[in-house]
Amino acid sequence: MAEIAAAVGAQARQLAYVNGTQLTNAPAEELAAELAGLLPEPLRYSYFLASGSEAIEAAVKLARQFWVESGRPGKWKVISRVPSYHGNTLAALSLSGREHYRRVYAPLLTDFPRIPAPDPYRHPGCAACTGDALEEAIERAGADNVAAFIAEPVGGSSGGAVVPTAAYFRRVAEICRKNDVLFIADEVMTGLGRTGRWFAFEHFDVVPDVLVLGKGLNGGYAPLSAVVASRRIVDALAAGSGAFNHAQTYSHTPVICAAGAATLRYLREHGLVERCAAMSPRLFAALDGLRAIPAVGDVRGIGLLAAVELVSDRETRAPFPRRLRVAERVTARALAEGLIVWPNAGHVDGEDGDLLMVGPPFTIAEDEIAEIARRLGAAIAAVATEG
Ligand code: PLP
Repeated sequence: MAEIAAAVGAQARQLAYVNGTQLTNAPAEELAAELAGLLPEPLRYSYFLASGSEAIEAAVKLARQFWVESGRPGKWKVISRVPSYHGNTLAALSLSGREHYRRVYAPLLTDFPRIPAPDPYRHPGCAACTGDALEEAIERAGADNVAAFIAEPVGGSSGGAVVPTAAYFRRVAEICRKNDVLFIADEVMTGLGRTGRWFAFEHFDVVPDVLVLGKGLNGGYAPLSAVVASRRIVDALAAGSGAFNHAQTYSHTPVICAAGAATLRYLREHGLVERCAAMSPRLFAALDGLRAIPAVGDVRGIGLLAAVELVSDRETRAPFPRRLRVAERVTARALAEGLIVWPNAGHVDGEDGDLLMVGPPFTIAEDEIAEIARRLGAAIAAVATEG
């Protein structure tokens, strides 16, 4: 958008860089204020970095530092879910439940406790769906050793836009509170409107202690992510060591923060989050039409974040064998037709499972939605016929 490009250019001409460890700058302050205006209490303080992975690392370190400075130095473990994706740097990958990304690096990864993520399509009502799995994991690890629980409020590509119940997150929040475990919401994928609300956690009536943002925060104009912390965490550090013990050359830099502030302004002034919510029923109505294809097992999601799950047998929900590379082949076919979808493999058992993620721009038109469904349906049907 011209407005965002102009804001980035103007900032680069005025002040391209200033070190974020010692100094602040106007765009960083403006972006932090914009976010504070969108977020509920007690999420007040933002720390800006460049990528989602970096922000996850920082969030984990922040949780650890909070407990050390709160006189609970035993608390360091972070519980995460499988499938999930939190990034490709080592702590973020250690937390991620995406086996094919982890395999080669296994010796380098931290052995954090991981629990199954809710899977209402294959395992409705199971311990993962009710929150019991989290309670059991905290009990096993010992609450005195657990610093945080991290989850994507709506599962991203690794699980296929899984939308848990509000009861699940209410229970998660209650378990975290009872056990002095911080809840970190990874909204790198879902934050800033993708689910039809500014933040996905708003669908579930919970507020995390730490929120991680990326992607949608910058409109693609600059690498920008954020860790937003609640008052309680910042107050503990302020009363203790005085600062978050973290620094990177490109934290809080003016040009990337200007991209963020301009992006948020653009979203707000053009009502694009509301537009995303308004277009959502149309997207799902169109994608639901794909259920006529026998290989389509499920269509799910929220806002303009959708997943189509492919199965070899709809009755048993059996996935295709991985060697057939169904998701990748459908993706290649769709691309040949001018449609970009994101394939994901392995969510069923770390090996099998084929998902196609659809995440159109918030500005998508109705006829374009129909076109997405048409081209995706043709690609799936063609690959299913080939076997
Ligand atoms: N967390 C989630 C939920 C993501 O979807 C991603 C990227 O896809 C990340 C973290 C990592 O972000 P980045 O690729 O910017 O490092």
